Amino acid sequence: MAHLFDEWRTRSPHYDETHEAVCDSVRAFVTREVLPHVDAWERAGQLPRELHAKAAQAGILGFGYPEEFGGTSEGFNIFHSFVQSEELCRPGAGGIVASLMTHGIGLPPILAAGSDAMKKAIAPAVLAGGKIIALGITEPSGGSDVANLRTKAERKGASYIVNGQKTFITSGMRADYITLAVRTGGPGIGGVSLLLVDMTSPGVSRTALEKMGWHASDTATIHFDDVEVPAENLIGPENAGFGAIMRNFNGERIGMAQQAAANARLCFEDALDWARERSTFGKPLVANQVIRHKLADMLRRIQATQAWIDHCAWTLVNGKAAPGEFALLKVQATQTMEFCAREACQILGGASFIRGSRVERIYREVRVMAIGGGSEEIMFDLASRQYGF
Ligand SMILES: Cc1cc2nc3c(=O)[nH]c(=O)nc-3n(C[C@H](O)[C@H](O)[C@H](O)COP(=O)(O)OP(=O)(O)OC[C@H]3O[C@@H](n4cnc5c(N)ncnc54)[C@H](O)[C@@H]3O)c2cc1C
Repeated sequence: MAHLFDEWRTRSPHYDETHEAVCDSVRAFVTREVLPHVDAWERAGQLPRELHAKAAQAGILGFGYPEEFGGTSEGFNIFHSFVQSEELCRPGAGGIVASLMTHGIGLPPILAAGSDAMKKAIAPAVLAGGKIIALGITEPSGGSDVANLRTKAERKGASYIVNGQKTFITSGMRADYITLAVRTGGPGIGGVSLLLVDMTSPGVSRTALEKMGWHASDTATIHFDDVEVPAENLIGPENAGFGAIMRNFNGERIGMAQQAAANARLCFEDALDWARERSTFGKPLVANQVIRHKLADMLRRIQATQAWIDHCAWTLVNGKAAPGEFALLKVQATQTMEFCAREACQILGGASFIRGSRVERIYREVRVMAIGGGSEEIMFDLASRQYGF
């Protein structure tokens, strides 16, 4: 049987030999620069900064970004990004992907709405791996209700004075910049803006958070106490930040869906390998119908999820994307990951409970995928409103 990590692309109209070339080059990078260090980075609770520069040199950080800022976009589409993301997931350590690729959520608002000077100052440094950018939306008072965020930015002369807190921020301990959602106006969605904040500014402090999974990713609560931010750091017009945040979520959600599908596929593969090798009661595990049905059910959900991801990507490329469908897709993908992680653990038995295997790590990463970037409940609600239930 062909390796499932590659096999699903060969029968899809969206993938060709250029996607296989991306797969080969990212896989070589991951094998050389990531796989040998997974356990050490998981223990350290963060990634070394050198990894960002190495990933930039390998073309990974700039993939899909404008050439003028050091990216490579010519001849590439969203399906190439999926292949890259899937290969980055192969070590089965989602924290590495989350922290290495945080610019995937922090940088797009700047490229979409930032001033030319801001783009030139920030994008090349981030895409070269020299600087790290995070995204700060969630607050201790809640992450789902973005319209009611409380961190305040008050205009004083040529600056904004920022006060408030953000929490659960990926790469928050190491970030050089943060794309920060702030309240510049009245209550609700019409008072929200995006501001680029230099994390070395006086008044910024950070507290590290320990987590269930994603150990290789540094996560922080960030405190802003009278932080002075130049007014030209406003990203887009004042009080028009909510729409930009929502548009950013579409990209984040389909990206998370692809990562969840990749994790589900990893669980399937490791479970199948184990079921073939492990013997109980005098025969291989896979010789039991109940085990084969578990595997078949995992595969059924993975294939359906991938087909829907590819369809949604096609709608995005062709200007037909519907945010409600993206929201449902995220739920579909993370529930598929959840199911496959559970069933893989059952098939691996006690071995799945011992620290250090891909399946054990992925099992601990299910909740962050199902909650981060928009929880299941919020996704169902968004879809219900979009579909007019
Ligand atoms: C490891 C990790 C990394 C993260 N990285 C980032 C990051 O880089 N930047 C960032 O801004 N955020 C980040 N987040 C935050 C994440 O996006 C939020 O956790 C998420 O949006 C949910 O917000 P909350 O945790 O505050 O839950 P809450 O909004 O407090 O909700 C709690 C629970 O109640 C449910 N709920 C809320 N409202 C309703 C309702 N009306 N009806 C039914 N159910 C409801 C939710 O679904 C959720 O399950 C990260 C989170 C984690 C765990």
